[in-house]
Amino acid sequence: MRTILILGGTSEAYDLAARLAEFPNMRVITSLAGRTDTPRLPAGDVRIGGFGGVAGLSAYLRDTAIDAVVDATHPFAARMGWNAVQACDDTATPLLRLERPAWQPGPADRWHGVADWRQAGQWVASHGQRVLLAVGRQDLDAFTGLDHVWFLIRSVQEPECFKDFAQAEMLLARGPFAQDDERDLLVQHRIDTIVCKNSGGATDAKLLAACQLGLSVVMIQRPPRPSAACVHDVDGALQGLGL
Ligand code: NAP
Repeated sequence: MRTILILGGTSEAYDLAARLAEFPNMRVITSLAGRTDTPRLPAGDVRIGGFGGVAGLSAYLRDTAIDAVVDATHPFAARMGWNAVQACDDTATPLLRLERPAWQPGPADRWHGVADWRQAGQWVASHGQRVLLAVGRQDLDAFTGLDHVWFLIRSVQEPECFKDFAQAEMLLARGPFAQDDERDLLVQHRIDTIVCKNSGGATDAKLLAACQLGLSVVMIQRPPRPSAACVHDVDGALQGLGL
């Protein structure tokens, strides 16, 4: 029996769990951070909640006799990426990172790359008027003080800080979205700027629609993560695990 731990929270992690669960003599455990109240559950076993830093993850790897770890967390889950490298190093557990490639701008895109939320807030403060915030609930603080800007906040759950926005509308929705629907949404709300993270992966409908409409996109670049053996898709991960 081989036991693989997937650090999850992404669609790739669900896909990998489904593929691994089909192998005989394979135990697959997906770990979720527990950020959403009703998470979609992957195939195989699931554990939910933080490990308690590097020490907690190292102890879990030993106690559960994990044979290999696949860090399939989101590219913006920076801390977990660092913890995984350190804990796998400490316990001599093989580690593979499954990370979708970053989006790249085309010649017609009007992207403004920024390094962090503070810079994104500064850009919006001086250039944005009607802004779609397509970012996580926990990423909104940089925009709450911008009372002269109107925001459309799209999120799976209503953020606590929604009440702190002077001019904002909430849109509860979970992707993926279609390009035509995205274009209609942007036109309907007269959006001039989109703020999003460079999550990467499949071509993104809102970015295609923004390009079509000539809108500005404030693109937050990925945070640094330590170097690790890296693959970009589920097939690559299976290969990397020798399957
Ligand atoms: P983070 O900043 O890297 O992690 C913060 C802490 O949350 C970690 O130190 C760890 O706690 C715990 N944690 C994170 N991922 C975990 C996992 N898969 N299993 C168990 N514990 C986990 O991560 P984050 O940005 O808060 O993201 C949390 C989760 O949401 C990640 O699993 C990620 O894949 C998913 N997600 C994040 C984003 C994003 O933009 N950040 C977007 C989509 C999905 P301990 O130190 O106690 O172990």
